[in-house]
Amino acid sequence: MSATPVRLQLSATTRGARGKPPRHFVDLTPQERVEAVTALGEKPFRAKQLATHYFTHLTNDPEKMTDLPKASRDVLTGDLFPQLLTATRTLTADGGTTVKTLYHLFDDAKVESVLMRYANRTTLCVSSQAGCGLACSFCATGQLGLTRNLSTAEIVEQVREAARALAAGEVPGGATRLTNVVFMGMGEPLANYKAVMGTVRRLVAPAPDGLGMSARNVTVSTVGMVPAMDKLAGEGIPVTLALSLHAPDDELRSELVPVNTRWDVDDALDSARRYFDATGRRVSIEYALIRDVNDHAWRADLLGEKLAARGTGWVHCNPIPLNPTPGSRWTASDPAVEREFVARLRAHGIPTTIRDTRGSDIDGACGQLAAEEDQ
Ligand code: SAH
Repeated sequence: MSATPVRLQLSATTRGARGKPPRHFVDLTPQERVEAVTALGEKPFRAKQLATHYFTHLTNDPEKMTDLPKASRDVLTGDLFPQLLTATRTLTADGGTTVKTLYHLFDDAKVESVLMRYANRTTLCVSSQAGCGLACSFCATGQLGLTRNLSTAEIVEQVREAARALAAGEVPGGATRLTNVVFMGMGEPLANYKAVMGTVRRLVAPAPDGLGMSARNVTVSTVGMVPAMDKLAGEGIPVTLALSLHAPDDELRSELVPVNTRWDVDDALDSARRYFDATGRRVSIEYALIRDVNDHAWRADLLGEKLAARGTGWVHCNPIPLNPTPGSRWTASDPAVEREFVARLRAHGIPTTIRDTRGSDIDGACGQLAAEEDQ
């Protein structure tokens, strides 16, 4: 273990300089919502009405809140529902069933989310930070640096907007519900722990205080920030944990994922195993297959050995062909090499499935759209 990477230390300063997003109803706990409503001179039960509009009807539009008197609606929504996200670009692929949205935040910071509709589920990939301070060399967001952490409401708003569009039948295939949320957009969720946990709580809280999603359908993906992983294990909310490993050896992983110099491969895998012990949730190992960089047969064997050494049934592997970022010298592995990599992991008894690459034709690799805007 060495010192904290410089970029991590910068994050707090940068955030301070950018200022905080305006307070939103969703940032408040149910008790604080009641207090905020009464501070505006309204009856306490209005808090529950607002929560029902937001989390059940998926609306923040005062015109639709017809069970509230007009004057109350205007006061309440004017104060408690500031507009946090403005969609400035939407790209679609797969016949409209993959939708990528670029949002501008109140301070003009930019984030993206990607909605993917499948036969039996719908998944939204959300951003937890504008940019990212962890500088993974193959990741588009990693090249941007960190702008700032998002607030809970800024993350939940991405989810509400996707759930609203699905419920309204705006995505081909008929009206449906949002079933899954993955923190695999821009940012490192565990570097913005408080706002991300606040989001998780609102996703899983039953209506009307939250969206009533199942914790297992919420995936927090991390570069391997061990203390935060251990903290997450103790929250009592068994979300799915994904660990972005990308190499089984410290020499290469420190190059691809610089935070490895702080928490190395063994530290991260031990913590992932502890997460399984605490929650009973099988951990996903993410592995972007980069041609001739990390896709060697010996690395598949080493990964298989390291995972199997920590037991069976606790982990599965999700290799994904690299989605090359603009200007990168790297490209995805050859399909035959990919098949061999998968076969070797399975031979070690590790359940392995290639992750879907939806949206790669619309710069689905996180951060690419925001990066393009900044050029
Ligand atoms: N910071 C978190 C979550 C955001 S990235 C994390 O690192 O896990 C979500 C996933 O996409 C991670 O596994 C990340 O390593 C992977 N990823 C980033 N850039 C990619 C690219 N160009 N091609 C394929 N996967 C990529």
